[in-house]
Amino acid sequence: MRESIMARLKDGGRLLMDGGTGSELQRRGVGVARGVTIGGDIGPWSARALGEAPALVREVHEDYLRAGADIIITNSFWTNQSRMAMDGIGEKWAEYTRIAGELAVEARDTVNPDAYVAGGIAPSNQGSPSIFEELRGQAEALADAGVDVILPEYVGPVEDCAAAVDACSEVGLPLFLGVKHVNQFLQDPEALSAALKGRRVDAILAMCSAPEYISERLPALRGAFDGVIGAYANIGYLWVENATGDPNQQMRVIEWGENTPGRYAEYGEEWMGMGAQIIGGCCATGPEHVEALRPIVKG
Ligand SMILES: [Zn+2]
Repeated sequence: MRESIMARLKDGGRLLMDGGTGSELQRRGVGVARGVTIGGDIGPWSARALGEAPALVREVHEDYLRAGADIIITNSFWTNQSRMAMDGIGEKWAEYTRIAGELAVEARDTVNPDAYVAGGIAPSNQGSPSIFEELRGQAEALADAGVDVILPEYVGPVEDCAAAVDACSEVGLPLFLGVKHVNQFLQDPEALSAALKGRRVDAILAMCSAPEYISERLPALRGAFDGVIGAYANIGYLWVENATGDPNQQMRVIEWGENTPGRYAEYGEEWMGMGAQIIGGCCATGPEHVEALRPIVKG
């Protein structure tokens, strides 16, 4: 029986998280642009891989676990009704979300039974109550699939963070909150912390932001929030201006720039010095980055 994830994080314990899932599926040939509209609305993202290439999804999870990840995030980012409807498969949201959970749990049980599965889900848009109903349904499906943690992620405004936490906390699992674009949405972590008071939030993770923005905002988050903090950065996943939704055309390009695995590990070390206990990668990071973080995070 694996130790509970919160027990591992008690007394400053550190856990290594995986890297990007959608961008890694793209690197391996999955057309993640399905459902993208001309002008730029992003579709259900990597969800299509669950129906068409589940073995690849599982392979990505397994590669992250072999690279040392203690936590992997399910491929359920936008497996909700409203986003999947953009690809004509809206009614399949529950099935796809459950499959995403099961694939991650199977990968974990195969490669490292001591690791944890975080059920990652994102609100489809800002502010609409129905969007948070979608989160509630996805959290239930992921809990049924056996995940260890629910991770509402890619959430921005303070009121959305509170609504996402409320929607995801009913299943009774540990809850991590992933706040996106921290140069914008973590300008006032005191206000966020105040809004979350009385709600169950076990960790706040600064995510999907350039590493330098995370370095800039993490100290203020540490000062404002009593729970565990962590970070997973977007190192360069750039919009293709003429993306059309053609499955043969990817909508973003992976550009590491200076954020090589070695450079990313230096950021990880910096964030740990700022109090981060959970370190991973978001868009465009791959198993190479997790491998580079491994000796830093695990000592
Ligand atoms: Zn990202």
